[in-house]
Amino acid sequence: MNRLYAGLPRTIFDVMSGLARELSAVNLGQGFPEEDGPADLKEAVARATLEHSNQYPPMMGLPALREAVAEHYRRFQGVDLDWAREVTITSGATEAIAAAILATLNPGDEAILVEPMYDAYRPLVERAGGVARYVRLSPPDWRIPRDALKAAFSEKTRAIVLNSPVNPSASLLVRADLEAIAEECIARNVIAICDEVWEHVTFDGGRHVSMLAIPGMRERTFKIGSAGKMFSMTGWKVGFLCAAPALTEVAAKAHQFLTFTTPPNLQMGAAYGLKKGEDYFVAMRAGFQRSRDRLAQALTQAGFAVLPCAGTYFLNIDLARSGIALDAEDFALRAVKEHGVASIPLTPFYAGAPPAQMLRLCFAKRDETLDRGVERLAAARRTLA
Ligand code: GLN
Repeated sequence: MNRLYAGLPRTIFDVMSGLARELSAVNLGQGFPEEDGPADLKEAVARATLEHSNQYPPMMGLPALREAVAEHYRRFQGVDLDWAREVTITSGATEAIAAAILATLNPGDEAILVEPMYDAYRPLVERAGGVARYVRLSPPDWRIPRDALKAAFSEKTRAIVLNSPVNPSASLLVRADLEAIAEECIARNVIAICDEVWEHVTFDGGRHVSMLAIPGMRERTFKIGSAGKMFSMTGWKVGFLCAAPALTEVAAKAHQFLTFTTPPNLQMGAAYGLKKGEDYFVAMRAGFQRSRDRLAQALTQAGFAVLPCAGTYFLNIDLARSGIALDAEDFALRAVKEHGVASIPLTPFYAGAPPAQMLRLCFAKRDETLDRGVERLAAARRTLA
């Protein structure tokens, strides 16, 4: 069997959600909202299923959705995209990331990954024949270290994979960081593969800046978005892959042999959602921010050291500073098995040892779920510390 896949563990998100289901634990692990998104989007999908074709849509996606994606990013991020040449619809953002990586790298090329990194990036780079190089962000501010950034680039660098807002650190890459990365990419003719799936999930007035909007990056950036994250329907798996025509042409060929297309009814639901006004996104952010604050306050009261969160669905706790000597994987496994609360250790987001033992908690949950989760984490802390 293929050595890379055979040697990989099952993804931590599925392991933890599996244990949570099996043990009826409170699930603060895998990042998905407990409540589905707006009912009118579900109705749009139901109508599309009943009234429209359920046969193969065009390989690059339904024109109605591709137009809606371009229009949405024009409205919210000031990014100008030609829907017919620069937008591809994929089966989830993970597929878009895979298509962009496969389309960019040749065997032996180097790709820079920023730790902590979403767990799919490294295997996708390596399966494409690429060699991963790392730049590490450190708590509490998770900024791009300029010297390490420069040192990570070489003659062989072909791509840098970026994520902002960052899962799992819940930080944003600020404009100055994006500009520093852009400077290197432009000087060395490197492509930026930007996972921007959390673009609408930002807090305290902080706003997402797309790498596509940074001067000089328009022709060398893949921008990846997710209907699941925008509309709290993570099971829909509808992703948006946006890039200049020369990049899109090749990435669409990778997509055509990964999934070929994405269910047409879900594409129509996403097209409907993308037309929602600013008020929907403001309310979504406010709801998640309230949940973030509730969880942060309860955790702090229970004696946990909580890191700041500027975006995503996640809060991190520093175990050592919370008086817990176990490493994050051990604590997470024992917390779910012995105390009925699932979480995500940060270990799988690092190629080497993480800078601290940290645990990621998803706050996109009902109040009572968050409260029960904290009670159980507090019990785990008392017995496992
Ligand atoms: N993005 C989700 C998370 O970070 C996981 C998605 C998945 O499991 N594929 O929790």
